[in-house]
Amino acid sequence: MGIFDRKVCDVCGGKAGLLGGKKVKDGRLCSECAKKQSPYLSSRKNFTVDEMKQHLEDRAANQVTVREFEPTRTGGSSLKLYLDDARGLWFITRSRRYQEDNPDVFTAEQILGARIDIEKGNRVETIERAIPAKDGKPAVPAKTKEVVYYNFYVLIDVSHPWVNQMRLKVNSSSLEGGPHHPDYKEAQRDAGEIVEMLLAMRDGAMAEKQEKAKPKQRVVCPHCGATTTPDENGACQYCMGAIG
Ligand SMILES: [Zn+2]
Ligand SMILES: [Zn+2]
Repeated sequence: MGIFDRKVCDVCGGKAGLLGGKKVKDGRLCSECAKKQSPYLSSRKNFTVDEMKQHLEDRAANQVTVREFEPTRTGGSSLKLYLDDARGLWFITRSRRYQEDNPDVFTAEQILGARIDIEKGNRVETIERAIPAKDGKPAVPAKTKEVVYYNFYVLIDVSHPWVNQMRLKVNSSSLEGGPHHPDYKEAQRDAGEIVEMLLAMRDGAMAEKQEKAKPKQRVVCPHCGATTTPDENGACQYCMGAIG
């Protein structure tokens, strides 16, 4: 095999490029196919060609869901959570033109947890550059200062065939003003709002599920006197009379 053998994408059959495309466990993808994958997919090399085919089919189905998605509420500002309450669906993205971005859509039941993760770091910033020794004058060392910065992330755990966890940055540029700065407060508020909305959505879905799973109480029918489990409309199973 020569170095210029044309490699073929194992998913779509298209050209995979001279460099051999993007490697998966037992084959390769072209960059067009690789572009369609979920940004949350853990290392591509862990997946087989068949798994990637399935993944890209699921991504195409996700694109349809995104097109049908009708946001009823949003949370956050730069990083934004979109909720479709009627369908019980949500997604989160930075992209304003999300239809093109095809963000992974999740159901309320798929939310396992959500929390805020605050990163604190520091870096050294040069205020005045060092001046080398010259014409008999001694060198002047650089003036520096330490800058402390913060970043807000939301950590979302989901139960989904291709995504386990998302760690998403809430603020668009790192926060250097400290906890009293308006930008910090805004990021804190956005992160809190996103987490709160997700947890409320999960709790709502869980309560609904429990309500459905709850064994129905057997009661004595006031109309016919039979011991009955009222049907979903609250009617006696025997005489169809309305109970309580
Ligand atoms: Zn391809
Ligand atoms: Zn009855």
